[in-house]
Amino acid sequence: MTVDHKLCMIPGPIEFHEDVLNAMATPACSHVDPTFIPIFGECIELVRKAFLTSGQPFIICGSGTLGWDMTAANLVEAGEEVLVCNTGYFGDRFGECFETYGAKVTHVRCPIGNATAVEDVAKALESKTFKLVSITQVDTSTGVLNRVKEITKLVKEKSPNTLVAVDGVCSIGAEELRMDEWGVDVALTASQKALGVPPGLAVLAASKKAIEAFQNRSTPVPNYYANWTRWLPIMNAYESRKPAYFATPAVQLVKALHVALKQLTGRGMDNVFEAHRVASKKFKDTLESWGLKLVPTSRDVAANTMTAVYYPEGIAATDLLPKISAHGVVAAGGLHVEIAPKYFRLGHMSISVLEQERGHLDTTLKAVENALKENSYNF
Ligand SMILES: *Cc1c(COP(=O)(O)O)cnc(C)c1O
Repeated sequence: MTVDHKLCMIPGPIEFHEDVLNAMATPACSHVDPTFIPIFGECIELVRKAFLTSGQPFIICGSGTLGWDMTAANLVEAGEEVLVCNTGYFGDRFGECFETYGAKVTHVRCPIGNATAVEDVAKALESKTFKLVSITQVDTSTGVLNRVKEITKLVKEKSPNTLVAVDGVCSIGAEELRMDEWGVDVALTASQKALGVPPGLAVLAASKKAIEAFQNRSTPVPNYYANWTRWLPIMNAYESRKPAYFATPAVQLVKALHVALKQLTGRGMDNVFEAHRVASKKFKDTLESWGLKLVPTSRDVAANTMTAVYYPEGIAATDLLPKISAHGVVAAGGLHVEIAPKYFRLGHMSISVLEQERGHLDTTLKAVENALKENSYNF
């Protein structure tokens, strides 16, 4: 790490482990090299462990957004109904992605800082039959944690054929998500969030039911690159340690993912979930003890991977963020259009939480405290 490196404490990309970075600083390697095939194969197996599923993983070069395209293009056909549990910016965008493939999208919205009300989902499910319900587990624009377990249970009871897709881009690998136990059909994330790998990989897992829905489509998948018809044989080949090619995998990123997933699953997912709960509570307690107000309306619906917090009265983004940066920490501004200038965001995932001896969280809180002091904030 260079001396002038500022800690990247935004909700992704997050700070990366040296061993993960070193896995990328490796010489050219064929994507069908006999040393690479088992690494990719093991990544597929490790994704199952991290997502707590026996389903089908897809590890594909692209960002988290490619996970949306894979979900919408492969599982929803033009004219079909989709319900989006919308808690902010990323719900809007996932909805747009479904519409791109001709889906009819209904949004269940809630006031900013709230989680989707389970009763509202129940009402929506009574109004029509949905092919798929999407849930953003942590909307990175509000720092709200949605009730994935409760909503999925409800969908399974009221509409057993409906698929449940979870956008876990700011949650998987940190926030509790039990894909099989909860009945989630699609869970997707991106390498640069809680998985702790540089940006460039979309990582998704699909349940047996989701794969069947894909196989039973009546129309072809209206996408070239995101088409599972092309990727399923590739994933199966790598898993059975055989060479295959459709489009070149990001060899070095897959090597980095391999290191990160071994570290993560080696800790035990229950320990990982609990560590994020504990660290998040302490982090939020400190900010609140200074009189700052969180964007989530209560701790019950606050994410454990990040914190969205309002600027104090009279202090603007331009007053605070450059000062936090001057203390060596990069924070993110607001993203939700309706409140963007009023709040900022800090991520706390992966090594920042799991290896606290690195001091990332303390350094971040100290930087915020100092930046507030320099704005004559009255603690
Ligand atoms: C970051 C993020 C995305 C988008 O991922 P990209 O890698 O930027 O494409 C989608 N959903 C959520 C909840 C996110 O936090």
